[in-house]
Amino acid sequence: MTSPPACPCGDIHELSAATRVAYENITAGLPETVTIAVDGRAWLVPRIYLAAHGVKADELPALAERYGFAPAPTFTCPCCGKETSHPTDIDQRYCGLCHWWTGDPDLGPPHLAAPCPERRGA
Ligand SMILES: [Zn+2]
Ligand SMILES: [Zn+2]
Ligand SMILES: [Zn+2]
Repeated sequence: MTSPPACPCGDIHELSAATRVAYENITAGLPETVTIAVDGRAWLVPRIYLAAHGVKADELPALAERYGFAPAPTFTCPCCGKETSHPTDIDQRYCGLCHWWTGDPDLGPPHLAAPCPERRGA
């Protein structure tokens, strides 16, 4: 049995057998961090920290500072300039303001060529 990865809090958590099985099932094949967004900012939170402690949204900014959680990548819409940190939007390069996949090279240009009420400076 492998030991769980070190937690940012500095402890090696002795997870109960059931928790560890759940953790390993959930994390199999997935990145070791989860993107969690709060108030338009997002962080990559280690899964081991989530499994051991859980995270409340209103505590996340302070925890991120204390433990140095990495900021999640953001996506800036080339049309309207809106920055999003919503994980699904980033994955899909989708802008919630334009309602279009403005960051997708296959889908963005048609939208950018079209008039858009959200476009900055239009
Ligand atoms: Zn911990
Ligand atoms: Zn946009
Ligand atoms: Zn647009």
